[in-house]
Order: sequence, then C-alpha cells, then structure tokens
Amino acid sequence: MLAESKGIRLEHISKIYQDPKTGKDFKAVDDANIVIEPGSFVTLLGPSGCGKTTTLRMIAGFESPDEGEIYLGDQAINELTPNKRDTAMVFQSYALFPHYNVYDNVAYGLKLRKMDKEDIHKKVMNILDLVELTGMEGRMTNQLSGGQQQRVALARALVVEPSVLLFDEPLSNLDAKLRVSMRTEIRNIQQRVGITAVYVTHDQSEAMALSDQIIIMNKGVVAQIGSPQQIYYHPNSEFVADFIGEANFLKGRIESKNGSQGVMDINGCKVDVIDIEKFGEGSEATLVLRPEAATLGDSGQLECKVLLSCFMGSYQNYHVTVGNIVVKITEFNPKQKKIYQVGDTAYVRFEASDVHVL
Ligand code: ATP
Repeated sequence: MLAESKGIRLEHISKIYQDPKTGKDFKAVDDANIVIEPGSFVTLLGPSGCGKTTTLRMIAGFESPDEGEIYLGDQAINELTPNKRDTAMVFQSYALFPHYNVYDNVAYGLKLRKMDKEDIHKKVMNILDLVELTGMEGRMTNQLSGGQQQRVALARALVVEPSVLLFDEPLSNLDAKLRVSMRTEIRNIQQRVGITAVYVTHDQSEAMALSDQIIIMNKGVVAQIGSPQQIYYHPNSEFVADFIGEANFLKGRIESKNGSQGVMDINGCKVDVIDIEKFGEGSEATLVLRPEAATLGDSGQLECKVLLSCFMGSYQNYHVTVGNIVVKITEFNPKQKKIYQVGDTAYVRFEASDVHVL
C-alpha cells in the first residue's frame, strides 16, 4: 500500500537569486500561486531559465522560498528539510548508486528507515514488479540501459511511499523513441498508484501527453494554469499560444459586438468571432488561428495569396499572406481537396468556434 496522496499549495512564492554577472538580485520565481490537486499529474512547462526547476526544488525542500508559504496537504512545509517532507524526487541524471545493484538501490531508502529485512524485501519486489524490472535485482546499474536505469530511479522514489512524486526532466537523457514509451509508462504507473506528481519539462508534447494540468511559466511568472485542452484552445496570451503548438496571430479591431459575439475587422476583412465579452467595440484584438483550424477555399473570411504550397503526405502545408501577415495552414487529408498553387489568390476559412481572440 502506498501513502495517501496529498495536494500541494504554493501561496505567493518568490525566490530571489543574485545574477552572477551583474551581482544584482532578481526573482527566479515571482509571486507564484499554484494549487495542485491530490492524485493529479501536473507539469511545469516553459523555456529555459523560466524558473520551473527552482519551483520544483522549493517543493522538494532543496531551496527555500524568500517569500510565501508552501503547503503539503494542510501542513506548511517551508521549515521542513527534504527528508521530512514526504516527497520523493526522480532526477534527470537518475542519481543511482553505481556500486549497488538494482535491489540495493531500491532498498536504500527503506534501510535508512531501519525497516525490517523481510518487509524491505516485500516492498522492493512489489515495486520492481510495478516498474517491470522483476528478475533484474542482481544487476549492477552500469549494466542497465538508460530506460532501465530510469525505472530503477522511479522504483527508488516510489518504494518509500511518498505522498508526492517530483520529476526533474527525467527523460531528457533518453533517445526520442524511448522518451515517448517511458512517458506513457510514467503516466500509467502514476495513475495506477494514484500518487500526486509534479513534473518539470521544456518539451510541450511531453507536457500534453502526461498532464492533468499544465503550469506555463515565463520569466519566473506563472503565465497560465489549465488542462492541456484549456491551454491549447484558450491560451491567455501570445506567449502561451506560441509556446504550446503553432499559432498564427492576426491583429485587428472589434468592429461590432453583441454580448459574447461580434465581428472583427482584420485587414479590411470581416470575421465573425465569439467569446469576446471582455472586449469593447473599437478595441484592438488579436485572433489566434491554429494552422490545423484553417483551410483554403474559393470563398471564406480572409482573402490571401499563396506563398508556399507543399504536399506532405497526410497534409498540405500552405503559407499564405493576408495583407502583410504570413499565415500557416495545415490542411489534412488533401487528396480529395482542391490544391492551391503558389501565386493563387484564395480565402482562409475557419469556424468562429475554432479560433480564439486575445
Ligand atoms: P532549464 O529548463 O534551463 O533547467 P528552468 O526553467 O528550470 O530552466 P531554473 O533552473 O529554475 O530554470 O532557473 C531560473 C533562473 O534562476 C535562471 O535564470 C537561472 O540561471 C537562475 N538560477 C538558478 N539557480 C541559481 C542559483 N543557485 N544562483 C543564481 N541564479 C540561479
């Protein structure tokens, strides 16, 4: 049996570091407010240096916040050392003991707790079964593949029955194919065990595939928190829209509006839009158009000129210009469709429900 999974709360958390070049203080994490539900898989995602590892390390207790409070369940944990926190971390570098075999690596944390030998044996064998390493107990870790080493690291974290598992880019040392299969496995194990997981990555597809919730960070600030679908379909900024997937940004003006619906003027073209409660008539707005949400036709919302038309098998890749803006379009299953050539005039078409206004 594993320990009860717990939720995590970060309240107004900031971490100040000194920039080694300028000697000036800066906020590596700036007033982060994050709620992580028990049993959920949450990913901290963002470009290099945005503060995701620092956030994870503060949850683990390897760094302490300069402002704010971290809660594990109902307990404030700022003052607790890492080994008192009921969390376990899986590192990018695995951090296995090279002079121990698989069994002893996994058993280590239990021996530290002075657990009975028989209980240790039962727990280690159970966990090795969970990560599909049964039979490998006697192997030294340098006789294992990268994927197997990562499983040992995962087993070692799980065996102490923490309430929260923390992952610091655990798959970045693996090749692309193995990353994909390991991430599915991590997700399966996490769901089977029902443990809360916080996972750091800069790989958006990893975040999408794994997460119940994604926390996007930018320059130390939490930019958006939401499910993969919320983040993808309803990004709250150009930064988020651009970071997750590809996006075209078309600037324009809300020409008229009736409740949540209205008409946007983009380059003289009239475009029906929805979900525009927060915009006033005449205000500037940006239409976020995903390449796969648009198609080309002989009529449609935005007149355009074809710059690039490229057959890619499963889709036709277009670049078109709307005024002076280049718009990328990914038209799937092009076999049955009219193909436009470079220089053609055409129209970009899309459903109002498939675009998002910022
Ligand atoms: P990456 O994906 O590259 O690991 P990250 O989002 O995890 O990036 P952090 O490691 O959290 O980023 O670092 C955030 C910022 O804080 C960066 O600008 C980094 O250089 C800086 N930083 C991290 N640790 C320290 C430290 N001990 N002293 C000073 N600055 C630090």
